[in-house]
Amino acid sequence: LTDSLATLVAELKACRLCRDAHRFGQPLPHEPRPILQIAPGARLLIASQAPGTRAHASGVPFTDASGDRLRQWLGLDHETFYDASRVAIVPMGHCFPGLDAKGGDLPPRRECALHWRERMLAGLNDLELVLVIGRYARDWHLPEWKGSGLTETVMAWRQVFSAPRRPKVVPLPHPSWRNNHWLRKHQWFEAEALPVIRAAVSEAVRPRPGSPNSR
Ligand code: SF4
Repeated sequence: LTDSLATLVAELKACRLCRDAHRFGQPLPHEPRPILQIAPGARLLIASQAPGTRAHASGVPFTDASGDRLRQWLGLDHETFYDASRVAIVPMGHCFPGLDAKGGDLPPRRECALHWRERMLAGLNDLELVLVIGRYARDWHLPEWKGSGLTETVMAWRQVFSAPRRPKVVPLPHPSWRNNHWLRKHQWFEAEALPVIRAAVSEAVRPRPGSPNSR
């Protein structure tokens, strides 16, 4: 990590904002455990929602069934997925936000993106592709779609992906099992969108000559 990014990550790891000075809602019901994966030079950003119970326990993002499905969707093995020099994972909320009355994950803490996101992403200058997972990441990375349904945004993936911008952005549904019904209903996602997304991911994580991963 560069000194400035390392300092920022150290600050984040010590963050207690939602526990001590919570601006939005109740204090976090457990000790904060901020989770992310970041290194300068990463060319793929997974803009995710917030850690779930398993990632909260392991301290590593996507160590759960959602992660298994996401890796399968993207065609990435564990080694590549967890190679911070190639893949950054920066959620909208860095700590597990707790569970609602029905046992579902609460939304990411609003304090988090407001306080950390812009500065954290400023350390990623080589991004080629951003995978946007869920409504909160969609609202941040695709503000022109804010107010639209998430399905509407995902259905427009070709239009979003082909927009002339760098990094390119593509919206994904959440890989959670809670979305199985959505995936069954929208089979075009796996049949049509995923092959294109997988190819873009493969290009973004391809080792470059001279990089530690080049062979
Ligand atoms: S969720 Fe974000 S803002 Fe809240 S305590 Fe964790 S790192 Fe800090």
